[in-house]
Amino acid sequence: MPALDILATDPASQARAGILNTAHGTVRTPAFVPLATKGVVKALEPRDVVELGYDMVLGNTFHLFLDPGHERVRHFGGLHKFMRWDGPIITDSGGFQVFSMGHGTVADEIKGRASQGSDRAGAILSIDESGVRFRSYIDGSEKFLAPETSMEIQAALGSDLALVFDECTPFHVTRDYTARSTERTHRWLARCLDWHAENGPQDQLVYGIVQGGVYEDLRRESTEAVATSAVDGVAIGGSLGETKAQMHEVSAWSTDTLDRVAPGKPRHLLGIGEIDDLIRGVEIGIDHFDCAMPTRIARHGMALVPDPEKRWRFDLTNARWKDADEPIMEDCPCPCCSAGFSRGYLRYLLKAKELTGMRLVTLHNLAFVQRLMTDLREAILAGTLPQTAAALRSGAAPGLSRTVA
Ligand SMILES: [Zn+2]
Repeated sequence: MPALDILATDPASQARAGILNTAHGTVRTPAFVPLATKGVVKALEPRDVVELGYDMVLGNTFHLFLDPGHERVRHFGGLHKFMRWDGPIITDSGGFQVFSMGHGTVADEIKGRASQGSDRAGAILSIDESGVRFRSYIDGSEKFLAPETSMEIQAALGSDLALVFDECTPFHVTRDYTARSTERTHRWLARCLDWHAENGPQDQLVYGIVQGGVYEDLRRESTEAVATSAVDGVAIGGSLGETKAQMHEVSAWSTDTLDRVAPGKPRHLLGIGEIDDLIRGVEIGIDHFDCAMPTRIARHGMALVPDPEKRWRFDLTNARWKDADEPIMEDCPCPCCSAGFSRGYLRYLLKAKELTGMRLVTLHNLAFVQRLMTDLREAILAGTLPQTAAALRSGAAPGLSRTVA
């Protein structure tokens, strides 16, 4: 059985809609994958995530390795049982987090986001061909991550979809460094696949990671090397450039190459999930995305709304909402707006750092992104993606066409 069944393609772009088949069920694509970095979608329970319509969540190897430790998760029967999530789980390899410690602000630089704090407290002790030795940000103890250990941890976690361990190349390095780093990622890919073939769960899908910085030839070579190896799918990682335009171009070099060498393999775009990036990503043929944005900004009082001018963001903590009795969005079917929680109440909760405030905005934001992805998927299936994408880009509310129709 192929990992991905492609049900429809958009004649005007590279977009496709399909079904990803995993050991714990199917994922409707294109899909956004909410982060459960530490084994929990922050502020939510699994049933909330299911009710929002999500099929898959993403756990993180680096964080779960350090705390509570993969052996403890294994003791509970794997990550599904530990966190009480029955659906598909993808686990990140830890490469991005471990290299972010060494490269300082590489995480922020690559993904254009605010610092994650916890990732920075640790320290890299050494990087060589064997792997990476570093100090845990939890207790200062010395740890080692390598291609084999990353795969071993992901096997213990029992994820449905494992990512190989890669060297996440920072942006501000030379072409020569990027080329050497990308070659190491390819050698580590082979070691991950060898370990998995010998020891890994046979029903666990393995995705390789494309690197190559912002150099077209390196990106295309890396894509071809990864896609033609024994991987089940391909993830696009590393530095995608300084601007959105560059990020879209660099990602498209990969999907363009994939259309040629491995059109049927599923593609994941790592750590990208701004609203306009999701729309563009779907158009260039990405099948699934993960990003901290919707859940993280929710906890800081930012709600997603159909307002491209403000990057689809709405600041609920603004003093002007003190007495506002309307919901975040009129006619929003999410659990927060449909229950009638006012902007004034949410602002009050958020200012008081009440947990329920963070939870309600998280529900609204994930509901917003899920309606957007459903709109895009249904448009591909109906052959109307260009119109739907244009409407969403210019500020149409996701899900509106379906509510009206
Ligand atoms: Zn809402």
